[in-house]
Amino acid sequence: MAISPNNPGLLIVLCGPSGVGKSTISRDLAEKYSVSYIVSATTRPKREGDDKGKQYQHISKDEFFRRLEADEFLEYAQNYDDYYGTPKHPALDLLGTGKDILLEIDVQGALQVRFQYPQCLAIFILPPDEPTLLRRLEARGRDSADEIAKRFRAAKREIHMAKGSRTFDYMVINDDLHLAVEEIIKIIKHKRSGGI
Ligand code: 5GP
Repeated sequence: MAISPNNPGLLIVLCGPSGVGKSTISRDLAEKYSVSYIVSATTRPKREGDDKGKQYQHISKDEFFRRLEADEFLEYAQNYDDYYGTPKHPALDLLGTGKDILLEIDVQGALQVRFQYPQCLAIFILPPDEPTLLRRLEARGRDSADEIAKRFRAAKREIHMAKGSRTFDYMVINDDLHLAVEEIIKIIKHKRSGGI
């Protein structure tokens, strides 16, 4: 099935820099609101702490490129040396049956989704401020100091890019998880009732 503006489900894109709390927000949102979380495929090997973060289907680069050639991804992106992609199925099947779906992806992916599906709801999650983001990256305790510095730099670039683009309908600050999720649910309901 092709992606079409007539699909009755709402395609929700949740974006934000590393360490901002996207995965926690997605999990909480999926518990409180009826939305299907789409598991991404990635060539990134499993790493410690993955069970607490975003869920993935881990595949080889050969498999990723085979699926890319076969047009099996709704969008995809390269981050450092690895590839990440949203499988078209089950995403489009669920949308077609009227289910709201949630993609937790990066800005490169959000741009592609916005282009193909202008009616999507794209939300960017911001940290309260930069020192808080740095503290959160450090507190995850899963990355080396070099990796944290790299992710922090990338996060600042991503925030700058998101603020300067017209891709996102809303920016939500994740200071308090509960309040951020409540705000996102309000935004989804507003969009669902015909609002922008
Ligand atoms: P990580 O390796 O830290 O789990 O993810 C690295 C980056 O890839 C994050 O910004 C994450 O949001 C993004 N990402 C994860 N899955 C996908 C996907 O399916 N598509 C795109 N475009 N980005 C993704």
